[in-house]
Order: sequence, then C-alpha cells, then structure tokens
Amino acid sequence: MTTGVDQSKAWFERAKAVVPGGVNSPVRAFNSVGGTPRFMVRGEGPYLWDADDNRYVDLVSSWGPMILGHAHPDVVAAAREAAVHGLSFGTPTRGEVELAEEIIGRVEPVEQIRLVNSGTEATMSAIRLARGFTGRPKIIKFAGCYHGHVDALLAEAGSGVATLGLPTSPGVTGAQAADTIVLPYNDLDAVRKSFVDNPDSVAAIITEAAAGNMGAVAPHEGFNAGLKEIAHEHGALLIMDEVMTGFRVSKAGWFGLEGVAGDLYTFGKVMSGGLPAAAFGGRADIMAKLAPMGPVYQAGTLSGNPVAVATGLATLRAADDAVYAALDANAKRLGDLFGRSLTEAGVTHTVQYAGNLVSVFFSDSPVTNYPGAQAAETWRFPAFFHALLDNGVYAPPSAYEAWFVNAAMGDAEFEIIESALSVAARAAAEAVQA
Ligand code: PLP
Repeated sequence: MTTGVDQSKAWFERAKAVVPGGVNSPVRAFNSVGGTPRFMVRGEGPYLWDADDNRYVDLVSSWGPMILGHAHPDVVAAAREAAVHGLSFGTPTRGEVELAEEIIGRVEPVEQIRLVNSGTEATMSAIRLARGFTGRPKIIKFAGCYHGHVDALLAEAGSGVATLGLPTSPGVTGAQAADTIVLPYNDLDAVRKSFVDNPDSVAAIITEAAAGNMGAVAPHEGFNAGLKEIAHEHGALLIMDEVMTGFRVSKAGWFGLEGVAGDLYTFGKVMSGGLPAAAFGGRADIMAKLAPMGPVYQAGTLSGNPVAVATGLATLRAADDAVYAALDANAKRLGDLFGRSLTEAGVTHTVQYAGNLVSVFFSDSPVTNYPGAQAAETWRFPAFFHALLDNGVYAPPSAYEAWFVNAAMGDAEFEIIESALSVAARAAAEAVQA
C-alpha cells in the first residue's frame, strides 16, 4: 500500500510552473486517469521508488526500453565506463559500428543502419528517405498507430494522441497532412483501393510491425505480408516501425516472429538501453541515398552518442534467449492474472497479446483496429489504474497503451500484482460511466 504522495504533489506543483502540464511527454501527466503523477527517484530490477519512498512493481519499463529491469549491472557498468572516456566527440566512434553490427546481425533485412536520438527522429528520417528514394510524396499510415510526433504522422495517431482524445494536432499544416493517407488497421482492401485512388504517388506504407499504441493489437495473419506485396506491386516501400517491438518481442523483434521483410525499419527504446538513441535502416540500395553518399539529408550533433551506444549495446548483449523466454513467460503470466481477476469481479474484458506486449481491453470482443479500441469501456480504466497504483503496481496511465513486462520480474512481484489486481478488478467493476 502506498503511504502518501506529498512529495510527488509538491514536485508536480513546482513542475507545472516551469514545464507545460508539468511533464516532458503528455501521457506522464495522468490527464486521462486523474491524480498526481509519481515523481520517480530510483529504479532497481523490477521496482521503481517514488519521491515519497513508495515502491512499485513497474509494468511500464520506461515505455519499453528496460527489458532487463532497472539499473542492470552490465548496463550501468557500460554507461560508467563510456562516460569516463568522454561524453560526446562529434566524430565516428567504434561503439557505433558495434551497435550497427549487432542490430544488422539480429534483423536480417537490415543491411545498413543510421543512428539517431529518438524514435520520432527515426520515423521522420525514414519517410524522408522513402520520399527521396521513390520521388513520390504520399505516405500511408494506419489509424491508431503511433510513429512519434512527426508532423506528417500525427493524423489519427495512437499513444498520447489517443489517450488525450486529440484530433490531428494544431500546428500541423494542411500541406503536411495532405500527403498522409490514414487507413484502418488490418484492412488490406482499404490499402489496395488507396493505391488505385493515388496512382504513382505513394512513397511508402508505414506500419507498426505489430500495433502497440492503441493497446496491443497484432496484425492479422497475412496483413504485413499483404502490405509488402501491395506496396511493391505499386513501386512503393514498406517501412516497418519496430520502435516498440524491436528487440523486445524477440531477439529480432517482430521480424523474428513473423519473417516479413520491410524495406526500411525504425528502432528505438530497447536498443538504447534507456538513454536517448534510436535508429533507422534497411536495404543498402535505399540507405545509399542518404548524405554523405546520396542527396537525402539527415544529420545529428549527438547521434551515436558514446554513452547511449554503450548502454544500448550492453542491453542487447545481455538480452539472451533466457531474457526473451522470461519476457514471454512474464507477459503470459500477467495476461492470465488480468483474465482471472476480471472474470472473478464480473468485468467484461479481452486480454490481447502482440508477442510479449500485453493489453487488457474492457470489451467483450477482440480489438483489431482503432475504432474497436475506442469502443471499449475505457471509463473503467482510471479506477482500475489507481487501485493498482495504491497497491504498489505502476501501470501505464492510459487505456490505450500496451503493458511492458521486464525479465527481472519473478514470483515476489507477481504476488504483489495478483493481490493488487484483485482490488483493481473490483474497482473496475464498481466504476460508473461519467
Ligand atoms: N514509433 C513507435 C511504434 C512508438 O511506439 C514510438 C514511441 O512510443 C515512436 C515511434 C516514437 O519514439 P520516441 O518517443 O522515442 O520519439
């Protein structure tokens, strides 16, 4: 049981005076669940501690990166060792080459990689490259998929955009949005029709390799393969966004589970080890269009930062088969507990997986696309969330996010989750629609 949140409350008041909404990324603000965001001061293994010294089992894992748990000794040692040798040089470094080799060694269709600083930068660069390579302007994306806050990709986006119920963001001009075609997820007919309606003008389809930003919604069997086939038939590229799934759902990400090769890939989160690093990569003939080899410009003062590269590399090197087995087992264990507690409390629900991403929807039928996610009884979520939080479990503060397990979780943590879930399921049952 948490014992009070006075420190978090005080810090949140201070934060709001100097940072819009008190946060540096919107979903952290608890807007859709209410209450005070917890200011975390420490993480170790499967736990986080807040500024009032409350301990939580962490089911957010920094929104994905921390597959090994917090402050993993190998990763911390790598950061320390890199830091003492200098924080940034603005020159090529050996670690960048090793990280690129590690990624290319894991994800077969990726022949070349470029490092950037965030997933947003990765998708922004990938769509610029796709446009430069094909000489075409339009991009197809899917409703409920989130690819970072790139202007052209915010339309009907998942994640925080869905959580806050925002329309396409003000500040995105008509011209930027006009080249974005938004289609329903898991609907190949809509994709076929769109190519017919937009002849010779689509540069690329960008899709989350498996959707995780409207909750975990796996692609139907054949969906990703169909996207590849249709795109290629019409001279367009397929960009697989594996920022969330990459190096989490398997050693080779979603590609490792499904085997459908994209032309370009975007990565972030796990490959950064928790520091700001991300990447895009893919076919060598496409990557060759990037400056300095080709004319498509892309750059970054801190790209390939030595400390971030060292933590990313240490994370990937520590993420062996046993880690992936633990992630899969922990996701299944969490999903089973959702099912058991909500069934006991009589709450209509569907537990869904996309690899080891897991979600619970307050819905009686499987969710396959964004309207399905929106139709769930999301009004039950705040009560569910706060009961978990009060009982020592830090869940994503949004009904539209996947839950991220880590490999450091074991029996002791699942006991805490199980008892918190029994309270939370009752709270969800008693929730009333506003
Ligand atoms: N793509 C996907 C699939 C994501 O889930 C995210 C972030 O959650 C991004 C891109 C953007 O990454 P970042 O938040 O590092 O900019």
